[in-house]
Amino acid sequence: MKNFNYHSTTNTKEAVKLASGKGVFLAGGMTLLPAIKLRLAAYSNLINIKKIKGLTGIKVSSKSLRIGATTTHAEVAASKEVGKSIPSLAVLAEGIGDPQVRNRGTIGGSIANNDPAADYPSACLALNATIHTSKRKIPTDKFFKGMFETDLKKGELIETVEFEVPEKSAYAKFANPASRYAVVGVYVAKLKKEVRVAVTGVESFVFRCKKLEDALTHNFSPSAIDNVTISSKGFNADIHASAEYRAHIIKVMAKKAVSSC
Ligand SMILES: Cc1cc2nc3c(=O)[nH]c(=O)nc-3n(C[C@H](O)[C@H](O)[C@H](O)COP(=O)(O)OP(=O)(O)OC[C@H]3O[C@@H](n4cnc5c(N)ncnc54)[C@H](O)[C@@H]3O)c2cc1C
Repeated sequence: MKNFNYHSTTNTKEAVKLASGKGVFLAGGMTLLPAIKLRLAAYSNLINIKKIKGLTGIKVSSKSLRIGATTTHAEVAASKEVGKSIPSLAVLAEGIGDPQVRNRGTIGGSIANNDPAADYPSACLALNATIHTSKRKIPTDKFFKGMFETDLKKGELIETVEFEVPEKSAYAKFANPASRYAVVGVYVAKLKKEVRVAVTGVESFVFRCKKLEDALTHNFSPSAIDNVTISSKGFNADIHASAEYRAHIIKVMAKKAVSSC
């Protein structure tokens, strides 16, 4: 069904109220609209959240970087604040899709959608992000639940994503040459208290790689990765890469990321 009511609001409360029935938030529309067009999804109400002022923008403090949910990938890529405090995040945003996608797609839409090959979920996990919603604060380790599945409840709106500012970090992606989605993406972050490594494109949803985290906690250098064995069990296998190839590329991307930290 392609028939739906279109709502546009400047108010968070109204957006949440409208979405609590059979409604869905519309941000950049880069995923939602193709899904509706292909009849993979149908909704009675689309609620455009792009005009809600408080949902956009970037704020930095010494400890954290907060990005509003409707901030586009292009805005993150071009932001001086992001470039200064977490440059790897600007690199990630610059590598998403193409200019059209980067100018429409938003960080909130990306993490709410939780595509198995999306880039931002790996940044959230590696940078120990907190997802601020209309109802609560969700620690990133509890946010991503499964393929296209998150901890968000019906009508719960992501307002801001708060990243911990790391001592060092980098993102390396082996990209699908057509879509630029990750065949394998590895985000490495050396935080004040821990090293976190998040992998996207490889399983049904983003995950932390404990073996790499342990090796890099002991010795934060590319050579520390040499002796790590990554099993391909449960990894995606498709026309782009076998499970074994993905397992190999995780190490290659992890080394690349650590080298560029
Ligand atoms: C050709 C193409 C190439 C792409 N390449 C890449 C790539 O290389 N890497 C990558 O990571 N991504 C890629 N994407 C995805 C893109 O970057 C968008 O981030 C993604 O499509 C969703 O963001 P959006 O703002 O368009 O959300 P929408 O399509 O508007 O919404 C997606 C979902 O999120 C929900 N939602 C949106 N905002 C919120 C919110 N604030 N709170 C709660 N729920 C919300 C919507 O209700 C919907 O269910 C690509 C997309 C296309 C079409």
